[in-house]
Amino acid sequence: MELYVRLWYNISVEKINKPTVIEVIFVIKKLKYGNTNTFFIRETGDGLLIDTDFAGTLPAFYKAIKEHDIKIGDISYVLATHYHPDHMGLVSELMKQGIKLLLIDTQKPHIHFADEIFTRDKRLDYESINTDNSIIISSKNSREFLANMGIAGEIVSTPSHSEDSISLILNNGTCFVGDLEPIEYLEAYIQNVKLKKDWQLVMSYNPKIIYYAHANEKILYKKNELMYE
Ligand SMILES: [Zn+2]
Repeated sequence: MELYVRLWYNISVEKINKPTVIEVIFVIKKLKYGNTNTFFIRETGDGLLIDTDFAGTLPAFYKAIKEHDIKIGDISYVLATHYHPDHMGLVSELMKQGIKLLLIDTQKPHIHFADEIFTRDKRLDYESINTDNSIIISSKNSREFLANMGIAGEIVSTPSHSEDSISLILNNGTCFVGDLEPIEYLEAYIQNVKLKKDWQLVMSYNPKIIYYAHANEKILYKKNELMYE
């Protein structure tokens, strides 16, 4: 019997070979095979991939999942934090492998944002995403949808970086915010009302750790320590 134990301060996952469950199962793996931090998570059911790198990185992606002991069949859904090219380039390829696209309704008008960029490079042979095969939900319904996947959490709209940007906030305090400007920079952008609003929303969930798509993760030891009024 194979069990997983979560380690908070580095996100590696340790396999143990004991016959009894000693902690809630939660798997989180950071997959970096290009410019973007992408993540695979699984709690008690379906596996979810958060973001992909650019189109053309499929071989590197396969290598990365193999290194992390993840099989394509372990990934039920892919969710892009937004549709900038360095976050969704493999979505159409992964959908061909049977991975379902989880699309938030606010993202739908932006899903082809990168098509022109990718099709300009003929070597990529880029196929755009067919939304017919995606599952479209609203932020409001996300908690219920995720619960059916065995993931306790919510997807919220955090549109300061781009209109379609979302953040995934888990009940265990883990947050994935994509390209949301790191919280340390908030004071430098004090005029940025949208950014402030996004962070107020994220912080209202009392997160423990924030995973960014480019910056290193931020561990928040104390609740509300970085709350901005
Ligand atoms: Zn972006």
